[in-house]
Amino acid sequence: MKKTIYNENHVQSRVLKKTLTIQRSPVDNISTKTHDHFQPINPACLNPPLVGKGMDMILPHGGLPEVISSHLCSLIERTGGVNGPIGLQFVARPELERKNHQEGAMDPLSEDEYEIVPGVIYKYRGEIDENGNVIKHGRVLWTVTRFCASFCRFCTRGREVGLPVFMKARTCGSIAQKALLSDEDIRKVMEFLKNAKEVNEVILSGGDPLTAPKPYLTKIVKSLVVLQKSGDLDIIRIGTRLPVHNPGQIQEWHYQLLSEIKNVCLMVHINHPAELTAETLEVLYNFRKKSLATVFSQSVLLKGVNDSEEILQELFETLAKEGVRPYYIYQNDPVYWAEHFTVPVRESIDLWQRLRPRLSGIAATARFVIDTPYGFGKIPIPEGEAWKVDYSCYYDFKKKKHSL
Ligand code: SF4
Repeated sequence: MKKTIYNENHVQSRVLKKTLTIQRSPVDNISTKTHDHFQPINPACLNPPLVGKGMDMILPHGGLPEVISSHLCSLIERTGGVNGPIGLQFVARPELERKNHQEGAMDPLSEDEYEIVPGVIYKYRGEIDENGNVIKHGRVLWTVTRFCASFCRFCTRGREVGLPVFMKARTCGSIAQKALLSDEDIRKVMEFLKNAKEVNEVILSGGDPLTAPKPYLTKIVKSLVVLQKSGDLDIIRIGTRLPVHNPGQIQEWHYQLLSEIKNVCLMVHINHPAELTAETLEVLYNFRKKSLATVFSQSVLLKGVNDSEEILQELFETLAKEGVRPYYIYQNDPVYWAEHFTVPVRESIDLWQRLRPRLSGIAATARFVIDTPYGFGKIPIPEGEAWKVDYSCYYDFKKKKHSL
């Protein structure tokens, strides 16, 4: 297979530099603010500096400033500039992002509705019988910060991510209202997890948990480890894009902290093979070696970025070669600011069908899923064309029919 090589020959730096005026955004000033209690925002976010147009590019309802790490800026320069596969993911295109903001969705997965204690979204519920025995385990997603080292323009949580600490987003989730949770919030979550016997799994999310301040993240992780050791929790996953956004921001304490979790699963958001730079691969390797993490990838199918068999083949094969397990590729969620990234579902299915026969078993561990509206489950698309399936509609886990 012909490899796509991203090197200086791809540089379109003149175009890029013209568009990405280096300007410290209001988000950079977050280091000077403090949250409710002890947490200053991680000064590591500022070194190397963040660039982009910051709050000038914010969405009409108030999320997703344009913030791009210098690592990504350099990668954008090497991969076709603002219209290349990395530029398209991070450089704001306000005319497209704002087009449907009047009628478009902000929270199509109904996450705010499912928030049960601060930051904890409980959609995948477990069950307990009348004798208190667990008959089905449940898992929760815990959003602990609204910051990332850069902001993806298609982010599902664009309704709240990226706002400086002194602002509140217009939606009602905890991290829309405050940048980080308070000590009291964390205490409530721990109490919930201890008492909810059916919940055996927590997925830390945000924003990007690994961008959180060291004392804050340490407190959260160590509290979860206590529950894991006492048998109140089995599995801890951590979702992150920091190894792609800014690998230099990951420090020894991150590896050390995660090594305290038994069988930690690191879910890294990676969309394009060009994101797997030497620095990023080194960090992923370190998480495997130093934290004994199982590293999985999660990707979003994005028009113009990775909607080709060749790109996805290269992505999954490189991940497999580098010891990362391809896990999910998602149909992008129908949030209004990302509609221009959407590949029509029927085309996504065809792409997936064509791709599967090209991959070895170990590169084909990813499942292509549609995260259904209202939070009714991730519906996997069958691989290959071994079965004749009616693709004109599908049913979610609550038997609700969705026509395509
Ligand atoms: S890293 Fe994740 S949470 Fe952060 S902007 Fe990108 S998609 Fe959103």
